[in-house]
Amino acid sequence: MSGSALYETFARVPLTFDRGEGVWLITDKGERYLDFAAGIAVNSLGHSHPHLVAALTEQAAKLWHVSNLYEIPDQSRLAERLAEASFADKVFFTNSGAEALECAIKTARRYHYANGHPERFRTITFEGAFHGRTLATIAAGGQQKYLEGYGPKVDGFDQVPFDDIDAAEKAITAETAAILVEPLQGEGGIRSMPVQSLKRLRQLCDKHGLLLIFDEVQCGIGRTGKLFAHEWAGVAPDLMAIAKGIGGGFPMGACLATDEAAKGMTAGVHGTTFGGNPLAMAVGNAVLDVVLAEGFLEDVQRKALLMKQGLAAIADEFPEIIEGIRGSGLMLGLKCAAPNAKVNTALRNHKLLAVPAGDNVIRLLPPLTVTDAEIQEGFTRIRAGAKSLAEALTAAK
Ligand SMILES: *Cc1c(COP(=O)(O)O)cnc(C)c1O
Repeated sequence: MSGSALYETFARVPLTFDRGEGVWLITDKGERYLDFAAGIAVNSLGHSHPHLVAALTEQAAKLWHVSNLYEIPDQSRLAERLAEASFADKVFFTNSGAEALECAIKTARRYHYANGHPERFRTITFEGAFHGRTLATIAAGGQQKYLEGYGPKVDGFDQVPFDDIDAAEKAITAETAAILVEPLQGEGGIRSMPVQSLKRLRQLCDKHGLLLIFDEVQCGIGRTGKLFAHEWAGVAPDLMAIAKGIGGGFPMGACLATDEAAKGMTAGVHGTTFGGNPLAMAVGNAVLDVVLAEGFLEDVQRKALLMKQGLAAIADEFPEIIEGIRGSGLMLGLKCAAPNAKVNTALRNHKLLAVPAGDNVIRLLPPLTVTDAEIQEGFTRIRAGAKSLAEALTAAK
């Protein structure tokens, strides 16, 4: 056996975190890191948020799991709250983002099946997309590096260039069931689908009888300063996948649907063992308690502006390292002029955690609870990282 007993699928950084407090992660050696990665937009309320800790520990002392064979009151309650706060009428809970997408794709296919059109099963997706790592979701994402070596790509996905709505229209055939899009791409490099394009996709779906599916696994649950990113565009989907932030670190996801879109999802056609279990539901409800509290999202918007302005100033100072700032809310990207892996390492050397993305971007995804002072501390570290990398690159010339 070479090295560890784990699959070698992750190239891990040699850092071990022992504790977390809010926006801070503390290593086994007692070093403190400012966490602007937040488990890739998962720790929406930071680490060890007292309300989440209380919700989970109280539930843990009461009941962990019963299966969806029985009523789970907190599951119904969380579904009602999500429906109340969104376009949706119905919710299916999962353990992950990929499973939420699988549910959305299956729901779209069953919708057409229920309408007497079983031949309509194909989904149109956009280049640079990321929808998860199951066989269907790698086919939906369409990225060659994730498809390689896994045999024939799962059928039923047609990809068009990013933000090319004319191409999306041309790709529609008698077999098309749905269009799937991230309103703001995460892994793809913090790329926003313009408001106008989201509106046109809605019109296309209405015109051709297709379901519009939004993947808000990364950009949802307050990340952009609205509960859901698509609210900025004033466009509602028929189906939506969420995960990451709704669990605040507890593994969970959900597929949200209108009554109409969910009409094919009758008893027995889909299922899950763990999805919606009492532990996850206790945490999901607790996350919503905080995110939906009066003024919380407005404060995210205010802090987002502060962050974007500060980062733009740093980009001006170090154009050889950072070309520009993109994204919205607390889902921001540093479009790098230097290789993003080098930038990421430089930031980590200054004890700030970020996440590389496609298109030579570094993602900054701080917990939504980050304070103004912590944002300023982040600027200090990003500036220091950029400066040291700029000096190293000059010295190497
Ligand atoms: C992370 C992510 C997924 C996949 O979620 P998993 O929980 O890893 O399965 C899907 N879509 C988007 C946009 C994501 O960011």
